[in-house]
Amino acid sequence: MDARTELLVIMMEECGELIQACSKALRKNEFEDNRNLIEEVGDVYTMIEIMHSFDLVSWNDIEKRVLEKRTKLAKWSQLVEDWEVNIANVPPA
Ligand SMILES: [Mg+2]
Repeated sequence: MDARTELLVIMMEECGELIQACSKALRKNEFEDNRNLIEEVGDVYTMIEIMHSFDLVSWNDIEKRVLEKRTKLAKWSQLVEDWEVNIANVPPA
């Protein structure tokens, strides 16, 4: 297995572990200071950083996508307010 394949396999595994941690948090009603949830978010974040170091993703592309996703969430969910997206989209002076 080459390094990029290993990277994506471990990313898939970590995403699966994060899904499981989210499910357990919901099932047990444990949202605050949930050690397992924190660890699995950190594991996925680590894999994102390594994907960046392998030049599979750029921080610019990720930040652009973050804005796009926040815009969608503002429209389709209660998680992000419109004003938050509008402030984030203001170009620097
Ligand atoms: Mg993990």
